[in-house]
Amino acid sequence: MPETATLCPYCGVGCGLLVEVREGRVARVRGDPAHPSSLGDLCAKAVHLPPTLRTDDRLLYPHLRTRRDAALSRVPWDLAIRTVADRLGEIVAAHGPKAIAFYASGQLTTEEYYVAGKLAKGFLRSNNFDTNSRLCMASAAVGYTRTFGADGPPCSYEDVDAADVFLLIGTNTADCHPVLFKRLRRRKAAAPDDVGVIVADPRWTETADLADLHLALRPGSDVALLNGMLHVLAREGLLDRDFITAHTTGWGAVEREIAAYPPERAAILTGLSAEAIVAAALAFGRARRALTLWSMGVNQSRIGTDKTAAILNLHLATGQIGRAGAGPFSLTGQPNAMGGRETGGLAHLLPGYRSIGDAAARAVVERHWGVEPGTIQPEPGRAALEIFEGLTTGEVRAVWILCTNPAASLPDTDLVERALRQADLVIVQDAYHPTETTRFADVLLPAAQWPEKDGVMTSSERRLTYLPRLVPPPGEALPDAEIVTRVAAAMGFKAWFAYESAAEIFDEFAALTAGRPCDYSGLSHARLRARPVQWPAPTPEHPGTARLYGDGVFPTADGRARFVPVAHAEPAELPDRAFPLTLTTGRVRDHWHTLTRTGQAPALRARTPEPIVEVNVADAQRAGIQDGDFVEVASRRGKLIAQCRVTSAIREGVCFAPFHWGRGLGFYKSANNLTLSARDPLSRQPELKACAVRLRRVESP
Ligand code: SF4
Repeated sequence: MPETATLCPYCGVGCGLLVEVREGRVARVRGDPAHPSSLGDLCAKAVHLPPTLRTDDRLLYPHLRTRRDAALSRVPWDLAIRTVADRLGEIVAAHGPKAIAFYASGQLTTEEYYVAGKLAKGFLRSNNFDTNSRLCMASAAVGYTRTFGADGPPCSYEDVDAADVFLLIGTNTADCHPVLFKRLRRRKAAAPDDVGVIVADPRWTETADLADLHLALRPGSDVALLNGMLHVLAREGLLDRDFITAHTTGWGAVEREIAAYPPERAAILTGLSAEAIVAAALAFGRARRALTLWSMGVNQSRIGTDKTAAILNLHLATGQIGRAGAGPFSLTGQPNAMGGRETGGLAHLLPGYRSIGDAAARAVVERHWGVEPGTIQPEPGRAALEIFEGLTTGEVRAVWILCTNPAASLPDTDLVERALRQADLVIVQDAYHPTETTRFADVLLPAAQWPEKDGVMTSSERRLTYLPRLVPPPGEALPDAEIVTRVAAAMGFKAWFAYESAAEIFDEFAALTAGRPCDYSGLSHARLRARPVQWPAPTPEHPGTARLYGDGVFPTADGRARFVPVAHAEPAELPDRAFPLTLTTGRVRDHWHTLTRTGQAPALRARTPEPIVEVNVADAQRAGIQDGDFVEVASRRGKLIAQCRVTSAIREGVCFAPFHWGRGLGFYKSANNLTLSARDPLSRQPELKACAVRLRRVESP
């Protein structure tokens, strides 16, 4: 049977897939050997995509309810669109543009992100447009911008084949980015004595199995570890002074800061031995090519931006950037979290990595959109959690949720549910129903999903891949971009949203990236159909760019990267007598986000049917808990009940729970019953990796 090339709709690795369609349905998925990101590889989630697409809970038709206590009833599209347009218009008229908000997703295509952001910021004049990428990579994005002058991971996956030392910090790559991890494993297997792997994680995961040095640090102490390593490198003369002099500013302030982190003090702060910190530093400092990989373990912290800065400081101080195998490389969680950042899909951004606070940038975007000067508001909008907090206070009255499930994925579920109950208007656009979020909807709009629509996504290595439409959407489901443009037209903006195709939307957006760090003005659907390309690609002839900053020039005013001195800070909620353990949350390999998709794949569900809490042996003994017991994990905000795995593979004083299960699958299965809404002041990313909890055995689930 013929196969069509596309992209995996799950994680930010961005694996190329070959999809076989039979009788209008996806029948088989395999890796695409021609895709440069994955070279034919794929993981179980992609293999088991077919059963997740045409399920009994696909949302097939628009629904409305007229009162909160009324049931949702099926309505024609025209009525649903008219209702959304009228009610948004009424709320803006009564309370102003800041009373409406959009909460979108890294699962949207670049074109969908772009049109939704254009409607919100350029026509409804609300900068309250944020996405679940805020939970994922906001700290890395803000950190890159602060140090390098622009967002954008500088590396490529091919750097994995060239690096001789890997520092994996705050990333369980084996579970969360499996295909990239397999590449790393191949690199290590090919030269076990020449390639060193350091893994910093309170848990011993399969990622740590590959490590020559596993640093089971205290949750949240990454800055102390990284500053301690940099202290050792400075002491041992392992800095690249030429690079520092030629390409950076601010080293003096960092030098003064790291003076306070001798390995003995860093050891106290991290709970590691001083010898281990010295060993990690020397391995990194003696590397010819050092690559640091990180993801949510760094970013989901109240100092996630500072943790990113500490990583970037380490690379700048050693000149480990801009060369094959060298660089700081953040891994995105979602397939198009990068595209979201590029299109300005966060409350402080405009398309093309432009800051909303920059008057010249606003003027460029206003001209491109054909709106009056001064239309785009200068203040950043509300970030993810702030949207929901605004709903609880009445400052935000309406929220339009696209393709995501915040009632399961955001921290502090009680707060999110209260927000959705108190909202005047909740619009939810999703492929599935019911989810934890759709049950709060006043208007429910059926969205097409992969591969029922076409568009483009950008993976962690800045590579854009075209995703063709392979099957028709079921029922009356429509592509997200079409839903948005229909609402725009109903609100009187038809002339500005009269697109005939996703390709047209792409062209409009790509033109807006010209001259920007993420320049893909040389790309089009036609070109990407032939081959995925890494940005920047500023002309149709440009081959794309594997690596940024190879010339040592950064997109700052003086062309130099900026060192940022950063200090250790404890998590917002520390263990105490009442709540003596720290809970950290994360993914498991077989599942994706809130299980709307992977929960439908029998093979994946069978392998990981329920959440399991990991508890250290000593903590279990103290609590009288045996392996396999059901335990109640309680925080100041709520409870989780699950079976436990007693293990020495997690640091004493720390326990772990996966976040995939929402309350819809069992009220007490949700890890976000426990998590808290503390966040980084710069990136506004929530601290999902550390909250104080206590354990007790329960007789049964
Ligand atoms: Fe999809 Fe990520 Fe698995 Fe690749 S590693 S197949 S992108 S889920």
